[in-house]
Amino acid sequence: MSSWFHKYHGYDSHVHFLHRLAAAHPSVSRGIHLFGRSGPWENPAIVFFGTAHAREWISTMVAEYIAYSLLSESHVDADIKHALDSFDFYIFPVVNPDGLVYSQTKRRMWRKNRQAQNGTSCVGRDLNRNWDIHWGQNGGSSASPCHGTYRGQNAFDAPETRALAMELEDINERQGIRLFIDWHAFGQLVMHPYGYSCNKSLPPFSATAWLAGELAEAMRKVHGTKYKSGTACNLLYATSGDSADFVFEVLGADYAYTVELRPGRLDQRGFRLPENEIMETAEEAWGGVKHMLNLIHHY
Ligand SMILES: [Zn+2]
Repeated sequence: MSSWFHKYHGYDSHVHFLHRLAAAHPSVSRGIHLFGRSGPWENPAIVFFGTAHAREWISTMVAEYIAYSLLSESHVDADIKHALDSFDFYIFPVVNPDGLVYSQTKRRMWRKNRQAQNGTSCVGRDLNRNWDIHWGQNGGSSASPCHGTYRGQNAFDAPETRALAMELEDINERQGIRLFIDWHAFGQLVMHPYGYSCNKSLPPFSATAWLAGELAEAMRKVHGTKYKSGTACNLLYATSGDSADFVFEVLGADYAYTVELRPGRLDQRGFRLPENEIMETAEEAWGGVKHMLNLIHHY
């Protein structure tokens, strides 16, 4: 099954892969729900997203690799078993299915979903600008339907963000969200809140900021790939209505991050990360997650 991570795959194959992986586990809509011996819904939740942006294919492979590794290593690694017994994992490898299909079949550089809108021939909303958290503020998104960062006419007017927000709210009410990571590409950045304002920062000695640095360093240790950590707005640019700000500020998760995977920011290959780097990228993400799982037991 690990040969799965040597190539990119079509959407239908991803659905099939998840079904195989989840065979012994109850499924949640659009994702996979993993837990240990205490059963489901007992422990704090850990949530991962992949491919909110259609062209960022590596993020789906990474989310799947984490699910795969949690299941396959829990038999041999006491730390992983302990993590599965202590947390409920909700993994959504393809947040933007119709966008991914479009990127794979029509236009490689497509970013948004494929939602049509009356009055314009332009298609799609940016699913990471559509969350109801300072939506549309501070120039962190576009009001133009033709733009790549189009936020929509209202917060949560994309079916994908609306459904995910409802699911995350349920999870949060039931068990609380301990850790959230929205995997993206590219730039090799571990970003913590806030995205919506560069003037707002986490309190000094924030565990959320500290853990971002731990994640970046643990990812570097696997294959020597440098990841930078910091505030989303400062590392990249202002992003209003994004998932990590919503999960952190509205849902009150302890730790919420957006991670930009390989390649680095100045790398010409950009979104076209070659297939022979899927495995190493997935391994370094998993190395980072494993380190975090060990830490958040204690902090
Ligand atoms: Zn992205």
